[in-house]
Amino acid sequence: MIHDITWKIHPEMTVYKNRVKKRPSFTQSASFEENGVYETDISMNLHTGTHIDFPLHTLKDGETSKDHSLEPLIGPSHVFDLTHLKTKISKEDIEHLAIEKNDFVLFKTKNSYDETFNYDFIYVDKEAAAYLKERGVRGVGIDALGIERAQEGHPTHDILLGAGIIILEGAALADIEEGPYELWCLPLRIEDVEALPVRAVLKTY
Ligand SMILES: [Zn+2]
Repeated sequence: MIHDITWKIHPEMTVYKNRVKKRPSFTQSASFEENGVYETDISMNLHTGTHIDFPLHTLKDGETSKDHSLEPLIGPSHVFDLTHLKTKISKEDIEHLAIEKNDFVLFKTKNSYDETFNYDFIYVDKEAAAYLKERGVRGVGIDALGIERAQEGHPTHDILLGAGIIILEGAALADIEEGPYELWCLPLRIEDVEALPVRAVLKTY
């Protein structure tokens, strides 16, 4: 069975901190009357909805989508249910979890049930990020538009991106049960940028 964990992209969707300039805009650029066909232009930030971050997002001179391998974006993944957490994901909250080396971990939190942007979204704190790096995961995903907030600088991004770990933000996990899956997370092939929208699905084994 295939579970789509991708947000729908549309002009009224939830965007980071409700910033108007982060809203995607759709403009009809060709019409049957004038052009004989129908076409749409879309303008949006690359961190819209479900997307992955590359190192350049927070690390100066960091790697971009240029020549990025699809290898880490397809393969074993594990969804962990952390919906009981109230403010953030700390090391103590994940130490007991069966996180395997090379896993792509996805954290399902109460964020999945937010219908509008929640300024107090659950995030991954820097100690948890360091622990995930130590475990040797290949990716970390969360069900908020950001993987961190309320930390001076952006240490969670820096730790994960600095270690070549993929960050997946905006995963739609409300209907997903805890357990192992096969992840297919395919980004648009836009060259040399710091983030890319993805179509992400989980396949039940
Ligand atoms: Zn991002």
